[in-house]
Amino acid sequence: MKKICVYCGSSPGKSPEYIDSARALARELVTRNIGLVYGGASVGIMGEIANCVLAGGGEVVGVIPQSLVDREVSHNGLTELIVVGSMHERKAIMTKMSDGFIALPGGLGTIEELFEVLTWSQLGFHQKPCALLNVKQYYSSLCSFLDNAVEEQFVKSIHSEMLLVENEPSKLLDSMENYTPPVVDKWIGRNET
Ligand code: AMP
Repeated sequence: MKKICVYCGSSPGKSPEYIDSARALARELVTRNIGLVYGGASVGIMGEIANCVLAGGGEVVGVIPQSLVDREVSHNGLTELIVVGSMHERKAIMTKMSDGFIALPGGLGTIEELFEVLTWSQLGFHQKPCALLNVKQYYSSLCSFLDNAVEEQFVKSIHSEMLLVENEPSKLLDSMENYTPPVVDKWIGRNET
C-alpha cells in the first residue's frame, strides 16, 4: 500500500485517547512509508493526524470542497491540498488515490464516508481494504449493530467480514496488507440464507 485514506473526526473527541490514536496511526504510516490521504482540515483528529505524519517526514494529501475551506479550516502546510467543487468529488478523489481506507473515531461525516466506501466494496466497485480502528471501544456498538444486521439477514456475513477491525494501528495495517478481497456480488444469491 502506497497511500491510505483516513476518515476521522473534525472534532478532537472527549478523551485524549482519540488524539493519541491518531498520533499512533500517523507514526505507523510514516514507519511503513505509506502516505496519508484525508479531508484536508486542520481541526480535530483530522488536523492531528496530518500534523503528525508531516512531523515524521511523511506525505499528506488533503482533499476539501471549497465550501468547507473556511468551516473546517483547511490545512496550509500539506504536501498537497486539492480543493474540489463538492463532497461527491472529494470522496471520489480520495477513493481513487488510496490503496485502503481506515476510520478513526469520528462523527456523522466519518461514519458516512466509511459506509460509502464499504458499500462500494460490497458491490465490487473496488477491492481495497476497509478498516476500523476501534479506539477505546468507540465502534464496538457499531460492530454489534452489524452483527445484528447479519443475524436479521439484511447483510451477508461475507460482506460484514470485509470490514477489518482492530484496536492497534500496527495490527490493523498488517491485516490490511494481508487482505484478500472476497469474490462478492451483492445481488447474486440475495435470497440465500
Ligand atoms: P465528522 O466525522 O462529522 O466530524 O466529519 C469528518 C469529515 O467528514 C469532515 O471533513 C466532514 O466534512 C466530512 N463529512 C461530513 N459529512 C459528510 C458527508 N455527508 N459526506 C462526506 N463527507 C462528509
